[in-house]
Amino acid sequence: MPLIETHGLTKLYRMGTSIVRALDGVDVSIERGDFVAITGASGSGKSTMMHLLGCLDRPTAGRYLLDGRDVSDLSDRQLAAIRNRQIGFVFQTFNLINRTTALENVIVPQFYARRANTRAAALRALERVGLAQRAHHNPNELSGGERQRVAIARAIVNDPAVLLADEPTGNLDSKTGAQILGIFRDLSVQGVTIVIVTHEPSIARQARRVILMRDGKIVADQPAGPAPPQGRQALEVSEPAPAAESVPVAATAAPLGVAAAPVAESAATSARRVRGAIAGLTCSLVAVALLALALVVQQVVMRVYPVPTFDPARPQLPPLPVILAGLGVLAGLLTGLVLGIVGVAVSVGARRRLRMEPGYWTGARHVTAGLVLGGLAIVAAVGIPLAGIVAGLVLRKPG
Ligand code: ADP
Repeated sequence: MPLIETHGLTKLYRMGTSIVRALDGVDVSIERGDFVAITGASGSGKSTMMHLLGCLDRPTAGRYLLDGRDVSDLSDRQLAAIRNRQIGFVFQTFNLINRTTALENVIVPQFYARRANTRAAALRALERVGLAQRAHHNPNELSGGERQRVAIARAIVNDPAVLLADEPTGNLDSKTGAQILGIFRDLSVQGVTIVIVTHEPSIARQARRVILMRDGKIVADQPAGPAPPQGRQALEVSEPAPAAESVPVAATAAPLGVAAAPVAESAATSARRVRGAIAGLTCSLVAVALLALALVVQQVVMRVYPVPTFDPARPQLPPLPVILAGLGVLAGLLTGLVLGIVGVAVSVGARRRLRMEPGYWTGARHVTAGLVLGGLAIVAAVGIPLAGIVAGLVLRKPG
């Protein structure tokens, strides 16, 4: 059974009144351990294909079977779970976290996959890309090629079913790019399925198989190699491939399985998500704190200034501090209510991004805490006055 299988995969985008056929009925099948390059001119549908294969988006029509499971119609949450468990991403801009070492960058996805022995596994992954000796360097102390190798180690550390790389050599010189391609080849020999997207024919040809796209369709699909192209549909990759300088991959590395979790992620994406999650949590926390403070102030003031029994014969206002405390409690309740609603709304937005973007669930706990506390603030802000009214009615002395 192929690892990846698509049938009539179609993606339409609406652009004003017209419909763009970004993918037009793509049938493709990729075996485990294959090393495939998807290439084609700008606008041919490569990125759309990558998004669908990476479970970042759903097709408009057609089916996508990943490891035998139809993932075409899954919910956002289910797609996120598939991305976490089965797909490793490598980006053109590496997307490493700058203030942490290479080793820590590779540890991160395991943390989100709740794995044990993360350090040993991260070191093994770095060994597999020939970078163990740089494990304790920060990304800004590494060359571009070394950074991309760290990103590859991060993508494979949880043994993904497939590694998707979007223009992985786009920021590298040709020699370093060839080294990165060498690493992909070595990994595919070890059983990792690799799909790269590149607009450069010379890079594409260093894969084992090259798929050429045009106008959302596959127009050529053939083994890569120096053989000259034939006819119009042949791949535009006729010049000889540069000799790829393969970086030695640790001979002792265990072959990669096709089981669980990967995920490299964009530091920018992660930061955006975390910002949203923290904003939601902060609003909810302030809401709860305000409500608690309002209640404490009210209790203290009422103990210090017991409200005299209301005498209709001699109507009088309660003492000023009691009035101020009452107004303060009201303001606290209203602000708590508004902040609680904002906290929940921001947390819901952060959760949606969390589910739709590549990478592990950075900020998931903040989002959950924001939702719970925001909900609590709303319930308290509405419930406290209601409880007060009900208590007043129930406890009112007859007559
Ligand atoms: P490539 O990666 O090969 O440059 P894309 O997959 O990005 O191609 O785009 C394929 C076609 O779909 C292009 O015509 C592009 O303009 C269109 N397209 C891609 N994404 C969107 C979108 N979100 N909305 C509208 N049209 C899109």
